[in-house]
Amino acid sequence: MTDSKTISVPFVDLLSQHQPLEDELMIAIQAVIHKGDYILGQALADFEAAFSAACKVRYGIGVASGTDAIALGLQACGVGEGDEVILPANTFIATLIGVLKAGASPVFVDCDPRTALIDLAAAARAITAKTRAILPVHLYGQMVSPSALLDLARNHNLLIFEDAAQAHLAEREGYLAGSIGAASSFSFYPSKNLGALGDGGMILTQTELIAQTARSLRSYGATRKYYHTDPGGVNSRLDTLQAAALSVKLPHLSTWNQQRRLIAQHYDDRLHRLKSYGVSPIENQSQNGHVYHLYVIRLTPSCPINRTTLQKALNAQGVQTGIHYPIPCHLQPAFQSLGHQPGDFPHSETLSQEILSLPIYPNMTHTQIDRVIDLIENQVMEAGSAQFQPIDSVA
Ligand SMILES: *Cc1c(COP(=O)(O)O)cnc(C)c1O
Repeated sequence: MTDSKTISVPFVDLLSQHQPLEDELMIAIQAVIHKGDYILGQALADFEAAFSAACKVRYGIGVASGTDAIALGLQACGVGEGDEVILPANTFIATLIGVLKAGASPVFVDCDPRTALIDLAAAARAITAKTRAILPVHLYGQMVSPSALLDLARNHNLLIFEDAAQAHLAEREGYLAGSIGAASSFSFYPSKNLGALGDGGMILTQTELIAQTARSLRSYGATRKYYHTDPGGVNSRLDTLQAAALSVKLPHLSTWNQQRRLIAQHYDDRLHRLKSYGVSPIENQSQNGHVYHLYVIRLTPSCPINRTTLQKALNAQGVQTGIHYPIPCHLQPAFQSLGHQPGDFPHSETLSQEILSLPIYPNMTHTQIDRVIDLIENQVMEAGSAQFQPIDSVA
């Protein structure tokens, strides 16, 4: 009890993840240094095979980032100029940037406020003659329902391209993230569930032609050296060194995901008490398939404390939190030309005001989780009792 003030809780802790693996990582990196195949080397091919197999998808194509995986993945599927792509308004901006980089026209839809996942009924209403693809984002580590997605895609002849940047090995209805549609994208940004020691990404697909096209696109649009068949080509490869590091980490991914689930369970159990105070976690509708890239709560209007006040109070006591994301894509200044305004996607906008992401990472201790919840409980209940204080007691 006496030292509770000294317990600080970072938002993520990558050092605690890498320290136990340091020797193995050094050996893997040294092997690449000695082999000298820094671009498109053996360790990249090995990691592509291992990661795609883990996701039960035939082909994996390593690229420089998750953003490039979306852009090049869509291009490889033949989605581009003149094609409309449906995506949620409440996603990380990279989803939108990927669609735009592919040359396609983004069409936003709102989310289901309970899960923060794309609202597929709204998606159905947004379909036009130009709609080519739907781009579901498995946000926070929870998959969008595969059966509902497949129904929608079949009924309207749409291609499914999954943004699985937050959902490595997530499952729902017997499907693994990244295995539902024509192709999918992953990010290996360091803080993702599987992260490199720098930037990285991957396209997964079951289709050989899409895989071949993606491989050509990431390497100047060349099908063989100095023979360029695709003008959309760029330089975007996952480094051999990063792939070597990722191969060291991959065997631990399911354990890390399981640790995230247990932390989320602990948060759920203890936060239950705060329901009557207007504090509620984003709903998990996929049971054990959720991989909790983020643990997100909502502070609804009946909550006695405001988000900024709570965040500041937590921060002052050494607990870091985040907001994913404070401004929905359609209201970002860079994309005003898409012609949207406040009110266009009300659930996404409301969530952006109400959500708060709590610390979650595999090596988080019980003491740390309890510390986060104790502080939230104190703040919320204190604010609650202040609200209901009889007027004459204030004077
Ligand atoms: C991280 C992320 C991306 C982009 O990945 P980068 O590797 O940072 O380019 C795309 N979509 C979502 C949902 C993400 O969380």
